[in-house]
Amino acid sequence: MLKDPVQRDLFSDEHNLFRAQVIKFIETEVLPYHNDWDEKGVVTREVWKKAGEAGMLCPTVLEKYGGAGADFLFSAIVIEEMGRVGASGPGFNIHSEMAAPYVSEFGNEEQKHSWLPKFVTGEAILGIAMSEPEAGSDLKRIQTSATKNGNDYIINGQKVFISNGQIGDVFIVAAKTQKDVSSKNMSLFLIEGTREGFSRGQNLKKIGAKAQDTSELFFDNVRIPEKNLIGPSEGQGFKQLMHGLARERLAIAIGCVAKAEGALDNTLDYIREREIFGKKLSDFQNTQFKLAEVRSDIIVGRCLVDQLMSQYLSNHLHLDTAASAKLWTSEMLGRTVDTCLQIFGGWGYMWEYPIAKAYAEARVERIAGGSSEVMKSIIIKSLFKDLGINAEFN
Ligand SMILES: Cc1cc2nc3c(=O)[nH]c(=O)nc-3n(C[C@H](O)[C@H](O)[C@H](O)COP(=O)(O)OP(=O)(O)OC[C@H]3O[C@@H](n4cnc5c(N)ncnc54)[C@H](O)[C@@H]3O)c2cc1C
Repeated sequence: MLKDPVQRDLFSDEHNLFRAQVIKFIETEVLPYHNDWDEKGVVTREVWKKAGEAGMLCPTVLEKYGGAGADFLFSAIVIEEMGRVGASGPGFNIHSEMAAPYVSEFGNEEQKHSWLPKFVTGEAILGIAMSEPEAGSDLKRIQTSATKNGNDYIINGQKVFISNGQIGDVFIVAAKTQKDVSSKNMSLFLIEGTREGFSRGQNLKKIGAKAQDTSELFFDNVRIPEKNLIGPSEGQGFKQLMHGLARERLAIAIGCVAKAEGALDNTLDYIREREIFGKKLSDFQNTQFKLAEVRSDIIVGRCLVDQLMSQYLSNHLHLDTAASAKLWTSEMLGRTVDTCLQIFGGWGYMWEYPIAKAYAEARVERIAGGSSEVMKSIIIKSLFKDLGINAEFN
């Protein structure tokens, strides 16, 4: 494995010890099974349970809710090490960093006590269901409805592209309590997969991350108690998502830098072995210059995400800064895997080569969690707001 290009002062000995344990876990419990999971389109529940035992799920959950009460850097370590080796099947990151924080930050005590301990152990697997066939970037237009009925809500609608969709036990679902385009009537609900009227659609076929069970979900008159609403009152969903998406985008940015490092590492192994025109591939100036560019990109990305992790730890990470990081690192990862694959020649296009998988998997980073265009909209809105210019986009 490549040495880190920059001094990572953020990480203590305790973090480094945890990193070594995570690397070992991935080598023994993830990588030997990953091809099989790719074939099956889903990972096993067993790996979730084992990851829970290893402290890799929801490390930041407080001790009183069954967690380790660790800082976000422990989360970052899991994201980095899974990303570096292309372990895209187990949706630990979605569960721990993109979904569970809605319960730990906005849930009531009952929700926290009943769900968080199970998220930490892997007994309950979680997903976040925002996107719909007609509403991805424009979340305000979601159609899934939550209609009050006595002390219950009745949920109707459809979600698409939901990570952990087949294996998930419970989902945080965005729904509207009134039919309109405004974000004011959006709320988040905890919906268990055992509820009558809930069903899972296709495990969608993707160009990469084949072991990740990205799925359709359907809600047909699903009755849930009002205590499953997240937050003190209806209509908080959009605000909660905007808050949560900053952490989600930082998590994606951390993953992108680690994936780029993995691609470079992999390519450095290859160029030392491969011979063309009687020379090693590493002897060609083109190879050297291309990889120098890749290395420089990674150093810039590493400095950026480490700085933003610091901001997150001190509660200073802004939505627009997280958007900039997601935009830049996902585009950087795209450049990196393209350059690296080219260096492999035809072998880089073969599925059994990790660089081929890395190439396919990198593509989604510019789309999921908000596309690059959505990131640009967030950035420019914030910039123009500071200048007093209206940046409503169509
Ligand atoms: C593998 C995978 C996993 C996913 N996991 C989840 C999940 O777990 N939960 C979940 O809720 N969602 C998930 N998603 C959905 C993802 O968040 C959406 O795909 C994404 O937000 C884009 O929405 P869309 O696909 O509907 O594209 P659209 O919104 O239809 O966008 C179409 C195009 O318009 C562009 N666009 C957007 N805004 C503008 C603008 N202002 N100006 C110009 N162009 C614009 C977009 O960038 C894109 O190029 C996942 C997606 C994938 C592919």
